[in-house]
Amino acid sequence: MSIADNLLKYKNELEADGVQLVAVSKFQDAAAVQEAYDAGQRVFGENIVQELVDKQAQLPQDIQWHLIGHLQTNKVKYIAPFISVIESVDSLKLLIEINKQAAKHKRVIDCLLQIYIADEDTKFGLGFDEAIELLRSEEYATLKNIRIVGLMGIASNHAADKQTTDEFTELKVLFDGIKLSFFRKEDTFKEVSMGMSGDYKLAVEAGSTMVRIGSSIFGKRVIKHYKTE
Ligand SMILES: *Cc1c(COP(=O)(O)O)cnc(C)c1O
Repeated sequence: MSIADNLLKYKNELEADGVQLVAVSKFQDAAAVQEAYDAGQRVFGENIVQELVDKQAQLPQDIQWHLIGHLQTNKVKYIAPFISVIESVDSLKLLIEINKQAAKHKRVIDCLLQIYIADEDTKFGLGFDEAIELLRSEEYATLKNIRIVGLMGIASNHAADKQTTDEFTELKVLFDGIKLSFFRKEDTFKEVSMGMSGDYKLAVEAGSTMVRIGSSIFGKRVIKHYKTE
């Protein structure tokens, strides 16, 4: 099946459930993104800043780009002018820098707090307590150029098994708790970004509102190496 066929299959299936599709185009060339765009997709996810900046310059300007990979504070400035959602906020320090760069461009940048739900040491993210501490902090309360619109998490195995369901359920429970405690009056806190090619069905069952699918749409990735300036 072509990229367009794959895309439409996922898009139609997910939209029927009210779930947003982020097409993860990391390591895919601009032509592949354009093919998905021509089939109607507007929301794309990238995990490396340099690759994202290169593609943003080449591709249609109405694409909504989501950053889904770890973001270093010194790189925020490159994406602040255009980024639609930063899904991978994993520290207050990073959030403060996003706020500062967003202010320079007179923007309010939507952010998700990335929560650590996996049973591995290698994944980035905030612990449950750390997320709550961040939301309670005085510094957070002063940030006017960011808006936290939900939570994001990556399961351990990317496989359809019980552990994955448990991890997604934990994230949804945390989301509900944070919504009640901190965002009761704000309709904008509504996203639970969880689910990838291998586990999106379980994520949707557990309450995902946004799934990030790459290889099932674009095919296998050929890893490229980007300069980190
Ligand atoms: C690569 C990536 C995805 C997509 O993974 P696939 O298995 O190709 O669907 C989703 N989320 C994040 C954070 C990723 O880095």
